[in-house]
Amino acid sequence: MINVTRSFMPPMEEYEEYLKKIWENRWLTNEGPLLKQLQEQLEEYLGVNYVSMMTNGTISLQLALRALDIEDGEVITTPFSFVATTSCIVWEKCKPVFVDIDKDTLCIDVNKIEEAITDKTKAIMVVHVYGYPCDVEKIQEIANKHGLKVIYDGAHAFGSRYKGKSLLSYGDISTCSFHATKLFHTIEGGACITNNKEIYDKLQSIKNFGSVNGNYDNVGVNGKITEFNAAMGLANFKYIDKIIKERKEICETYDKLLEGKVVRPKVVENLEYNYIYYPIILKDEEETLRIIDALHEKEINPRRYFYPSLNTLSYIKDKGNCPISEDISKRVLCLPLYNGLSKEDVTKISNIVINNIK
Ligand SMILES: *Cc1c(COP(=O)(O)O)cnc(C)c1O
Repeated sequence: MINVTRSFMPPMEEYEEYLKKIWENRWLTNEGPLLKQLQEQLEEYLGVNYVSMMTNGTISLQLALRALDIEDGEVITTPFSFVATTSCIVWEKCKPVFVDIDKDTLCIDVNKIEEAITDKTKAIMVVHVYGYPCDVEKIQEIANKHGLKVIYDGAHAFGSRYKGKSLLSYGDISTCSFHATKLFHTIEGGACITNNKEIYDKLQSIKNFGSVNGNYDNVGVNGKITEFNAAMGLANFKYIDKIIKERKEICETYDKLLEGKVVRPKVVENLEYNYIYYPIILKDEEETLRIIDALHEKEINPRRYFYPSLNTLSYIKDKGNCPISEDISKRVLCLPLYNGLSKEDVTKISNIVINNIK
């Protein structure tokens, strides 16, 4: 069976070295030494001031909204993402206001943001879809003009760099997911990334029951991540360049085989890409379902990612006007991509796709 993804695993002995340290330290969670080390390494790698790691990417999104005091306001967001981007806004009792995506980059259409701003708008929370950058300059300009906070859901952005800077260095806060299926993982895990000390202090407090120097001055939750997760992160961290390089080679093989047969997202200039996913856009939903069936028959599991368009979720009252996202979500497919996927398998998958295009 070939799944859409398969988790990267470091050599077991290297993980065990970190486990030995945990046994020596007898410090299992609560901002322990391995977590501190990993956060410092990530700050350096990403070129940012602060990385506050948490239990997962979803809690990171929720706490990002909390840390920036986005309460019961409207949050401008994209309908073309994983469900967590929308559900965290609703969970935090804010209203998601959907703005359609650009049909080429699949990120939010920045030319439609301003018309969605009202006097209740407090933030823009958008996604670097598949690791491709949003128009970060234009978004910051709009945010400055209207006094809005910017949160990037950077769950796909780890390892992608735009104009020489990590994509996770933009906005008031960028969040990331270190889930087992992501490019760099800590089994479960996530982070809020910021350059602002005050925001960082608030995040560190609210992920730890709201503690401030031993007093509980903030309302908090328990979003702490354990030393075992940090150990996996430290063991995986050494392999980031190798992970990205190998994925690049697989993507280039797909590119060669599928060129001219399927549509791919437009790649902007000044991007060093992380090759986290291999999405293809097909002619229509019928063709998409036909290809899925044909792949399933050979025990290959692609993923309808993202489907459905999030503005169509049953609990969303104001569905907005997002025809492009609704259209593309019906005919986009992520093909298998992971370290160790063989050239033969890539060829086999590509041939099934090609043979089912009319
Ligand atoms: C994976 C993902 C999340 C959620 O992260 P978890 O760590 O699984 O909670 C949020 N947003 C996007 C875009 C994702 O892909």
